[in-house]
Amino acid sequence: MGTPHNVGIISTKTKEKKMTKNFQISEFECKGNLKGCECKMTANVKNNLLKLAEQLQILRDYLGVPIKINSGFRCADYNDNHINGAKHSQHKLGKAADIVAESKHPFELYRLIDELIEMKILNFGGVGKYNTFTHVDIRDQKVRFDKTTN
Ligand SMILES: [Zn+2]
Repeated sequence: MGTPHNVGIISTKTKEKKMTKNFQISEFECKGNLKGCECKMTANVKNNLLKLAEQLQILRDYLGVPIKINSGFRCADYNDNHINGAKHSQHKLGKAADIVAESKHPFELYRLIDELIEMKILNFGGVGKYNTFTHVDIRDQKVRFDKTTN
């Protein structure tokens, strides 16, 4: 016979890191940690990230393809001093993600997300268009921006 007890333990551990079916907290961690910023996510940030992941899961289910998180939470040090991010970036609150969807051009994804918000299927406030990824965030206000370059 197999080892059903061990299997149970493994699946419990996996569940702890999971936020939704396809997203886990590690995907949203500050990339500054790789460069030694050693920041920690507060409970408030984690709570925001969970709401963000819930929206991303709806999008992922709609698309039926994996979504890669290029950038999720960014601590102030990493955002302001290492990547020159916007001072009031939603990333600092754990409310934003820069995403890439498999086999979807960023411009196409931007337009689709905007449509899904209009249809009340998605509940993002901000959507930003970039050349190589799409920014989404869960701020309360409706914001659209275009940061594409030629
Ligand atoms: Zn950091």
